[in-house]
Amino acid sequence: MSKKNCELIRDLLPLYADGVCSELSKKTVTEHLAECKECAAELDKMNRKISIEADRDISAIRKIKKRMRLAKVAAAAIAVILAAAGLFGGFIWATTDCTMDYDKYNLAENVRVEEDSEGKLWLCMKGNAAALSCYIRPTISDTDGNHFGTDQPFNKDKKAGRGYTLKMFRIAKLIPWSVNSYEERIEVKLNEDSPINYVFYYDDVTDTEHVLWRADTAE
Ligand SMILES: [Zn+2]
Repeated sequence: MSKKNCELIRDLLPLYADGVCSELSKKTVTEHLAECKECAAELDKMNRKISIEADRDISAIRKIKKRMRLAKVAAAAIAVILAAAGLFGGFIWATTDCTMDYDKYNLAENVRVEEDSEGKLWLCMKGNAAALSCYIRPTISDTDGNHFGTDQPFNKDKKAGRGYTLKMFRIAKLIPWSVNSYEERIEVKLNEDSPINYVFYYDDVTDTEHVLWRADTAE
């Protein structure tokens, strides 16, 4: 084989290695390679290079895919965390209580104390005051007008009356519903050891007592 032939073969080698040359070229190259160690070595070198480059490409793609997967997982995790934080924050906000507005919910008319024929006292509530999203926080006051459970200097030896503060969850203020039909009665338990002279609604925002019931013996 002449060197000239080698040159021609070398020109064809890249196509041959990629398997894209014509049948005739393929046959010529194959025959030449069987007899020429230099060209065979050249093809071998070329194949190794191609396979290394292919490996490099594949590992680069794998790396990119892995990064994309990690990014997706991270984004999903962040979304889950944000959603959970949002739900938790929303729950805390919604279940935070606030005192019911005495005028807005017409508490003067919707909350009263009734005495039945057996002498039992009943706290009667209507409308928003009796709605499920509202609850009652009992309190007592002393003769100086200080209330237990507030930061006032309550004197337990001078207990004078039992009171209630109506609380409402914040979420309830957002829900427009008709509560006109709600009505609820709970018994006001009188404790023999510490006579209750009166029952009041205590507005802890304005620090005001609204007297609902007063014993006959009270002044
Ligand atoms: Zn050759």
